[in-house]
Amino acid sequence: MTGYWWSERIGSGYTHGYEIELLFEQRTPFQNMVIFENAQWGKGLILDGIVQVTQGDEFIYHEMMVHVPVLGCENPIRSVLIIGGADGGILREVQRYRQIERIVQVELDRDVLVGCRKYLPEISGNWKDPRLELVIGDGAEYVKRAAEASERFDLIILDSTDPIGPAIVLFEPPFHRNLASCLSKTGVIVRQSGLPVTMPRVMPFIRRRFLDVLPEVKTYLAPMPTYGGEIAFVTASRKEAGDISEPRSDYAGRYYNPEIHRAAFCLPTWWQKLIEDFRDDGQVPIETKTYF
Ligand code: SAM
Repeated sequence: MTGYWWSERIGSGYTHGYEIELLFEQRTPFQNMVIFENAQWGKGLILDGIVQVTQGDEFIYHEMMVHVPVLGCENPIRSVLIIGGADGGILREVQRYRQIERIVQVELDRDVLVGCRKYLPEISGNWKDPRLELVIGDGAEYVKRAAEASERFDLIILDSTDPIGPAIVLFEPPFHRNLASCLSKTGVIVRQSGLPVTMPRVMPFIRRRFLDVLPEVKTYLAPMPTYGGEIAFVTASRKEAGDISEPRSDYAGRYYNPEIHRAAFCLPTWWQKLIEDFRDDGQVPIETKTYF
Protein backbone atom coordinates (compact mmCIF):
# COMPACT_ATOMS: atom_id res chain seq x y z
CA MET A 1 0.00 0.00 0.00
CA THR A 2 1.30 3.43 -0.82
CA GLY A 3 0.08 6.15 1.43
CA TYR A 4 1.40 8.43 4.10
CA TRP A 5 2.12 7.98 7.75
CA TRP A 6 -0.54 9.32 10.09
CA SER A 7 -0.18 9.11 13.83
CA GLU A 8 -2.55 9.34 16.75
CA ARG A 9 -1.30 11.09 19.86
CA ILE A 10 -2.67 8.69 22.44
CA GLY A 11 -0.63 9.56 25.52
CA SER A 12 1.91 12.09 26.71
CA GLY A 13 4.82 12.21 24.27
CA TYR A 14 3.62 9.03 22.59
CA THR A 15 1.91 8.31 19.31
CA HIS A 16 1.10 5.24 17.32
CA GLY A 17 1.23 5.39 13.58
CA TYR A 18 -0.56 3.93 10.61
CA GLU A 19 0.47 4.07 7.00
CA ILE A 20 -2.83 5.15 5.52
CA GLU A 21 -4.44 5.61 2.22
CA LEU A 22 -6.91 8.46 2.65
CA LEU A 23 -10.35 7.44 1.36
CA PHE A 24 -12.36 10.44 2.55
CA GLU A 25 -12.00 13.53 4.70
CA GLN A 26 -14.62 16.05 5.84
CA ARG A 27 -14.95 18.74 8.46
CA THR A 28 -18.52 18.22 9.66
CA PRO A 29 -20.35 20.79 11.80
CA PHE A 30 -19.23 18.77 14.87
CA GLN A 31 -15.86 17.15 14.16
CA ASN A 32 -13.18 16.28 11.65
CA MET A 33 -13.78 12.94 9.95
CA VAL A 34 -11.17 10.83 8.17
CA ILE A 35 -11.85 7.44 6.59
CA PHE A 36 -8.73 5.50 5.71
CA GLU A 37 -7.36 2.15 4.66
CA ASN A 38 -4.35 0.45 6.24
CA ALA A 39 -2.66 -2.80 5.19
CA GLN A 40 -2.83 -4.35 8.67
CA TRP A 41 -6.22 -3.16 9.97
CA GLY A 42 -8.29 -2.61 6.84
CA LYS A 43 -10.58 0.39 6.60
CA GLY A 44 -11.21 2.62 9.57
CA LEU A 45 -12.65 5.87 10.92
CA ILE A 46 -10.85 8.70 12.71
CA LEU A 47 -12.74 11.53 14.42
CA ASP A 48 -10.86 14.59 15.66
CA GLY A 49 -7.56 12.72 15.45
CA ILE A 50 -8.75 9.66 17.42
CA VAL A 51 -9.23 6.19 15.88
CA GLN A 52 -12.87 5.15 16.40
CA VAL A 53 -13.07 1.86 14.58
CA THR A 54 -11.09 -0.38 12.23
CA GLN A 55 -12.24 -3.46 10.38
CA GLY A 56 -9.44 -5.51 11.94
CA ASP A 57 -10.47 -5.40 15.60
CA GLU A 58 -13.94 -3.80 15.75
CA PHE A 59 -15.55 -7.18 16.44
CA ILE A 60 -13.88 -7.31 19.86
CA TYR A 61 -15.27 -3.95 20.95
CA HIS A 62 -18.74 -4.38 19.49
CA GLU A 63 -19.28 -7.95 20.70
CA MET A 64 -18.08 -7.12 24.20
CA MET A 65 -20.22 -4.02 24.43
CA VAL A 66 -23.40 -5.84 23.41
CA HIS A 67 -23.21 -9.49 24.47
CA VAL A 68 -21.91 -8.88 27.99
CA PRO A 69 -24.89 -6.73 29.07
CA VAL A 70 -27.48 -8.65 27.03
CA LEU A 71 -26.36 -12.08 28.23
CA GLY A 72 -25.43 -10.91 31.74
CA CYS A 73 -28.86 -9.46 32.46
CA GLU A 74 -31.21 -11.75 34.34
CA ASN A 75 -34.30 -10.59 32.41
CA PRO A 76 -34.62 -10.61 28.62
CA ILE A 77 -33.68 -7.35 26.92
CA ARG A 78 -36.51 -6.16 24.68
CA SER A 79 -35.72 -2.49 24.07
CA VAL A 80 -32.35 -0.87 23.38
CA LEU A 81 -31.17 2.73 23.19
CA ILE A 82 -27.83 3.31 21.43
CA ILE A 83 -26.18 6.72 21.74
CA GLY A 84 -23.48 7.48 19.14
CA GLY A 85 -22.34 4.43 17.19
CA ALA A 86 -22.42 5.95 13.69
CA ASP A 87 -20.37 3.09 12.25
CA GLY A 88 -23.26 0.67 12.94
CA GLY A 89 -21.16 -2.02 14.65
CA ILE A 90 -23.18 -1.91 17.86
CA LEU A 91 -26.39 -2.02 15.84
CA ARG A 92 -25.12 -5.13 14.02
CA GLU A 93 -24.52 -7.04 17.28
CA VAL A 94 -27.83 -5.87 18.82
CA GLN A 95 -29.71 -7.09 15.73
CA ARG A 96 -28.56 -10.65 16.37
CA TYR A 97 -31.23 -10.90 19.08
CA ARG A 98 -34.71 -11.68 17.78
CA GLN A 99 -36.16 -11.04 21.25
CA ILE A 100 -35.26 -7.33 20.90
CA GLU A 101 -38.39 -5.53 19.73
CA ARG A 102 -37.32 -1.90 19.73
CA ILE A 103 -34.00 -0.24 18.91
CA VAL A 104 -33.57 3.54 19.10
CA GLN A 105 -30.23 4.94 17.94
CA VAL A 106 -29.38 8.59 18.56
CA GLU A 107 -26.36 9.84 16.63
CA LEU A 108 -25.39 13.49 16.57
CA ASP A 109 -23.54 13.66 13.29
CA ARG A 110 -25.40 12.86 10.09
CA ASP A 111 -22.20 13.28 8.06
CA VAL A 112 -20.44 10.52 9.99
CA LEU A 113 -23.41 8.21 9.43
CA VAL A 114 -23.29 8.95 5.70
CA GLY A 115 -19.49 8.55 5.51
CA CYS A 116 -19.59 5.21 7.36
CA ARG A 117 -22.44 3.89 5.22
CA LYS A 118 -20.52 4.72 2.07
CA TYR A 119 -17.01 3.62 3.05
CA LEU A 120 -17.43 1.13 5.92
CA PRO A 121 -20.57 -0.89 5.08
CA GLU A 122 -18.84 -4.13 6.12
CA ILE A 123 -18.96 -3.04 9.78
CA SER A 124 -22.53 -1.91 9.90
CA GLY A 125 -25.76 -3.63 10.83
CA ASN A 126 -28.98 -3.18 8.87
CA TRP A 127 -30.16 0.43 8.91
CA LYS A 128 -33.46 -0.66 7.30
CA ASP A 129 -34.46 -2.94 10.20
CA PRO A 130 -38.13 -2.16 10.99
CA ARG A 131 -37.31 -2.38 14.72
CA LEU A 132 -34.92 0.58 14.36
CA GLU A 133 -35.75 4.23 14.91
CA LEU A 134 -32.76 6.38 13.93
CA VAL A 135 -32.69 9.83 15.49
CA ILE A 136 -30.18 12.44 14.34
CA GLY A 137 -29.52 14.60 17.37
CA ASP A 138 -27.80 15.04 20.68
CA GLY A 139 -27.98 12.01 22.97
CA ALA A 140 -28.21 14.20 26.10
CA GLU A 141 -31.23 16.06 24.69
CA TYR A 142 -32.89 12.81 23.64
CA VAL A 143 -32.46 11.23 27.06
CA LYS A 144 -33.81 14.37 28.76
CA ARG A 145 -36.97 14.27 26.66
CA ALA A 146 -37.31 10.49 27.09
CA ALA A 147 -37.03 10.87 30.89
CA GLU A 148 -39.70 13.59 30.85
CA ALA A 149 -41.94 11.29 28.79
CA SER A 150 -41.30 8.37 31.22
CA GLU A 151 -39.84 6.20 28.44
CA ARG A 152 -37.91 3.11 29.56
CA PHE A 153 -35.22 1.01 27.90
CA ASP A 154 -33.88 -2.37 29.03
CA LEU A 155 -30.41 -1.68 27.64
CA ILE A 156 -28.72 1.67 27.06
CA ILE A 157 -25.42 1.55 25.15
CA LEU A 158 -23.20 4.63 25.21
CA ASP A 159 -20.98 4.25 22.15
CA SER A 160 -19.88 7.85 22.03
CA THR A 161 -16.56 9.51 21.48
CA ASP A 162 -14.20 10.25 24.38
CA PRO A 163 -14.88 13.30 26.59
CA ILE A 164 -14.00 15.91 24.02
CA GLY A 165 -16.08 18.14 21.75
CA PRO A 166 -19.74 17.18 21.31
CA ALA A 167 -19.49 14.22 23.69
CA ILE A 168 -18.71 16.33 26.79
CA VAL A 169 -22.44 16.76 27.62
CA LEU A 170 -22.63 12.99 27.93
CA PHE A 171 -20.30 13.16 30.94
CA GLU A 172 -22.28 15.73 32.94
CA PRO A 173 -24.44 14.84 36.01
CA PRO A 174 -27.83 15.81 34.45
CA PHE A 175 -27.26 13.31 31.66
CA HIS A 176 -26.66 10.54 34.19
CA ARG A 177 -29.78 11.39 36.16
CA ASN A 178 -31.84 11.24 32.97
CA LEU A 179 -30.20 7.97 31.95
CA ALA A 180 -31.18 6.35 35.25
CA SER A 181 -34.78 7.57 34.78
CA CYS A 182 -34.91 6.01 31.32
CA LEU A 183 -33.61 2.64 32.47
CA SER A 184 -36.20 -0.08 33.12
CA LYS A 185 -36.17 -1.62 36.61
CA THR A 186 -34.36 -4.74 35.42
CA GLY A 187 -32.25 -3.04 32.73
CA VAL A 188 -28.57 -2.17 32.33
CA ILE A 189 -26.45 0.67 30.94
CA VAL A 190 -23.05 0.03 29.35
CA ARG A 191 -20.49 2.65 28.42
CA GLN A 192 -17.12 2.63 26.68
CA SER A 193 -14.85 4.18 29.29
CA GLY A 194 -11.54 4.76 27.54
CA LEU A 195 -8.13 3.22 28.06
CA PRO A 196 -6.98 3.50 31.66
CA VAL A 197 -3.37 3.30 30.50
CA THR A 198 -3.62 6.60 28.62
CA MET A 199 -6.66 8.26 30.25
CA PRO A 200 -6.61 6.98 33.83
CA ARG A 201 -9.34 9.26 35.20
CA VAL A 202 -12.05 8.47 32.65
CA MET A 203 -13.13 4.99 33.85
CA PRO A 204 -13.16 5.89 37.59
CA PHE A 205 -14.96 9.15 36.74
CA ILE A 206 -17.67 7.27 34.80
CA ARG A 207 -18.06 4.80 37.68
CA ARG A 208 -18.51 7.73 40.07
CA ARG A 209 -21.18 9.41 37.91
CA PHE A 210 -23.05 6.10 37.61
CA LEU A 211 -22.81 5.41 41.36
CA ASP A 212 -24.45 8.81 41.94
CA VAL A 213 -27.59 7.48 40.24
CA LEU A 214 -27.56 3.65 40.32
CA PRO A 215 -26.41 1.14 42.95
CA GLU A 216 -24.72 -1.60 40.91
CA VAL A 217 -21.65 -0.53 38.92
CA LYS A 218 -19.15 -2.91 37.36
CA THR A 219 -16.07 -2.57 35.18
CA TYR A 220 -14.81 -5.02 32.59
CA LEU A 221 -12.16 -4.96 29.91
CA ALA A 222 -11.22 -6.07 26.42
CA PRO A 223 -8.04 -5.76 24.37
CA MET A 224 -8.30 -3.16 21.60
CA PRO A 225 -4.99 -3.05 19.73
CA THR A 226 -5.95 -0.13 17.47
CA TYR A 227 -6.87 1.98 20.50
CA GLY A 228 -3.46 1.22 22.01
CA GLY A 229 -4.29 -1.24 24.82
CA GLU A 230 -7.12 -2.56 26.99
CA ILE A 231 -10.35 -0.60 26.93
CA ALA A 232 -12.61 -0.35 29.96
CA PHE A 233 -16.39 -0.74 29.87
CA VAL A 234 -18.59 0.25 32.79
CA THR A 235 -22.09 -1.10 33.47
CA ALA A 236 -24.71 0.40 35.76
CA SER A 237 -27.96 -1.16 36.91
CA ARG A 238 -30.28 -1.83 39.83
CA LYS A 239 -30.18 -5.03 41.88
CA GLU A 240 -33.07 -6.41 39.82
CA ALA A 241 -30.80 -6.78 36.75
CA GLY A 242 -28.89 -9.55 38.53
CA ASP A 243 -25.16 -10.16 38.35
CA ILE A 244 -24.04 -8.84 34.94
CA SER A 245 -20.67 -10.59 35.22
CA GLU A 246 -22.34 -14.00 34.97
CA PRO A 247 -23.20 -15.17 31.41
CA ARG A 248 -26.66 -16.74 31.06
CA SER A 249 -26.16 -18.44 27.70
CA ASP A 250 -23.47 -20.37 25.86
CA TYR A 251 -23.52 -17.99 22.87
CA ALA A 252 -20.14 -17.60 21.19
CA GLY A 253 -19.23 -14.84 18.74
CA ARG A 254 -15.89 -14.25 17.06
CA TYR A 255 -14.38 -12.89 20.27
CA TYR A 256 -17.12 -13.25 22.89
CA ASN A 257 -17.83 -16.52 24.68
CA PRO A 258 -18.99 -17.34 28.23
CA GLU A 259 -15.42 -17.80 29.55
CA ILE A 260 -14.35 -14.44 28.09
CA HIS A 261 -17.47 -12.88 29.66
CA ARG A 262 -16.50 -14.03 33.15
CA ALA A 263 -12.79 -13.32 32.71
CA ALA A 264 -13.40 -9.78 31.46
CA PHE A 265 -14.50 -8.75 34.97
CA CYS A 266 -11.13 -9.76 36.49
CA LEU A 267 -9.36 -6.41 36.71
CA PRO A 268 -5.62 -5.84 37.01
CA THR A 269 -4.54 -4.71 40.48
CA TRP A 270 -3.57 -1.25 39.18
CA TRP A 271 -7.10 -0.75 37.75
CA GLN A 272 -8.55 -1.69 41.15
CA LYS A 273 -6.24 0.86 42.74
CA LEU A 274 -7.23 3.52 40.19
CA ILE A 275 -10.84 2.98 41.26
CA GLU A 276 -10.03 3.02 44.99
CA ASP A 277 -7.78 6.09 44.77
CA PHE A 278 -10.08 8.18 42.56
CA ARG A 279 -10.88 11.57 44.02
CA ASP A 280 -13.86 13.27 42.38
CA ASP A 281 -13.24 16.95 41.68
CA GLY A 282 -16.39 17.11 39.52
CA GLN A 283 -14.32 17.99 36.43
CA VAL A 284 -14.88 16.01 33.24
CA PRO A 285 -11.50 14.30 32.68
CA ILE A 286 -10.57 15.59 29.26
CA GLU A 287 -6.83 15.29 29.69
CA THR A 288 -4.94 12.30 28.41
CA LYS A 289 -2.13 11.25 30.69
CA THR A 290 -0.18 8.05 30.88
CA TYR A 291 -0.54 6.15 34.12
CA PHE A 292 3.00 5.01 34.71
N1 SAM B 1 -16.10 3.08 19.20
C1 SAM B 1 -15.96 4.44 19.32
C2 SAM B 1 -14.86 4.98 20.20
O1 SAM B 1 -13.84 4.42 20.20
O2 SAM B 1 -14.99 6.01 20.86
C3 SAM B 1 -17.17 5.27 19.21
C4 SAM B 1 -17.67 5.13 17.81
S1 SAM B 1 -18.92 6.13 17.24
C5 SAM B 1 -18.23 6.60 15.69
C6 SAM B 1 -18.91 7.61 18.20
C7 SAM B 1 -20.02 8.56 17.79
O3 SAM B 1 -20.48 9.31 18.92
C8 SAM B 1 -19.61 9.62 16.76
O4 SAM B 1 -20.16 9.28 15.51
C9 SAM B 1 -20.16 10.91 17.32
O5 SAM B 1 -20.76 11.73 16.33
C10 SAM B 1 -21.14 10.43 18.35
N2 SAM B 1 -21.44 11.42 19.38
C11 SAM B 1 -20.58 12.25 20.02
N3 SAM B 1 -21.24 13.06 20.86
C12 SAM B 1 -22.56 12.72 20.77
C13 SAM B 1 -23.74 13.20 21.38
N4 SAM B 1 -23.71 14.20 22.26
N5 SAM B 1 -24.92 12.63 21.05
C14 SAM B 1 -24.98 11.61 20.14
N6 SAM B 1 -23.89 11.13 19.52
C15 SAM B 1 -22.69 11.66 19.83
